[in-house]
Amino acid sequence: MHSYPLYYEKPYQKTHTAAIVDIVDNTLVLDSTICYPEGGGQSGDIGLISGVQLVNTTKDDDHTIYHHVVEQKFSVGEKVTIELDWDHRYHFMQMHTAQHVASGLLFTRFGIQTVSVHQGERVLTIETDAAGVEEATCFELEDLVNAVVRQNHPVHYEVHTQSSAQNLGLRRSIKVEGDGVRLVVVDDVDTVACGGLHAASTAEIELFHYYGQEKIRGHIRLIFTVGKVAREEIRRAEAAARELGVLFSSPLDGLVDVARTAVASAALVKSELRKAQQAIASLLLGSLVEKADRVGMVPVVYWNVPEEMDMKDIAQALVEHEDLLLCAAKEVEGGVLWLIGVQGKASAVLDFNTGKSSLLSAIEGKGGGKAPLFQGSAQACSTTFFSACKDLIQ
Ligand SMILES: [Zn+2]
Repeated sequence: MHSYPLYYEKPYQKTHTAAIVDIVDNTLVLDSTICYPEGGGQSGDIGLISGVQLVNTTKDDDHTIYHHVVEQKFSVGEKVTIELDWDHRYHFMQMHTAQHVASGLLFTRFGIQTVSVHQGERVLTIETDAAGVEEATCFELEDLVNAVVRQNHPVHYEVHTQSSAQNLGLRRSIKVEGDGVRLVVVDDVDTVACGGLHAASTAEIELFHYYGQEKIRGHIRLIFTVGKVAREEIRRAEAAARELGVLFSSPLDGLVDVARTAVASAALVKSELRKAQQAIASLLLGSLVEKADRVGMVPVVYWNVPEEMDMKDIAQALVEHEDLLLCAAKEVEGGVLWLIGVQGKASAVLDFNTGKSSLLSAIEGKGGGKAPLFQGSAQACSTTFFSACKDLIQ
């Protein structure tokens, strides 16, 4: 089946009435459509079909175009009205046009080829063949594209035979076979074969903004925003910078240095706090050991660990004692975290591995480890844990 695509002839048409010729699951096939199907790095059109939400448009190899609707209340032969989500479609046309201009200038001015492109909901990405692209180059490109925007170059289409298109020596290889090759020409800037939708002239791009870059498969992928989204992103970044300026009481020029110093000082405070927590754990355990009952010569400590303490610090405090049996439990949501430390001669008092399965079943817990430290979690409360530990003492 073949759906007549009106979007090439009338890319600015926002509504259209068509007849349903087929219904496949949650999709409608229409005799003609203004909805651009997903492909070539451009997403499918969305909008409404007779009031029902159109969530995507796709096509198959046979050029049948499928309109994906959220609710199937249609019948074959029925006439329906398409209303495009025009903001969505127009933004893609702007991004697509900007991408041609940017890829053309990357090639002619900087000798950088485009490997692949993607137009997302908010950003346009161009994967280049370069292993590195300096930021100054990206800003120069941004300026060059915006100059083309101001100069308002018309965008037009030409249909060529395969051989005449090949003879033009375009920067990008032609991906379609046979004749009827559709060329997109941004006058005086760029010509490539492309099946996407574009704005009628470069002024419609409005604004082209360099948004950053990332490394992918050893290449640099450049990220841009276009049009209304570019303005929104610039304003968002400025608002964040202003707010940070107030938070750090710093003008923009010194803001990064002030923030860097604050982050470094917070890291220092955090590390001092860790040391203090470790010292407290060590002192508390020391005082518990002094008061502890002994089995043989070995002090046995049962410790209900306060919630603000970290079990890691307790494990560290344990090794400061030559002979010690420590049973520690910290109440957490849904049970306890438990720790059994068997230092030195304590191994003659409690053999964890022998008692492991009875302990775990008594406390409905899991865990393990190797001498001198065993750890885990349990559903039982700390009292049950301590009494299960007592049962293991020989
Ligand atoms: Zn295109």
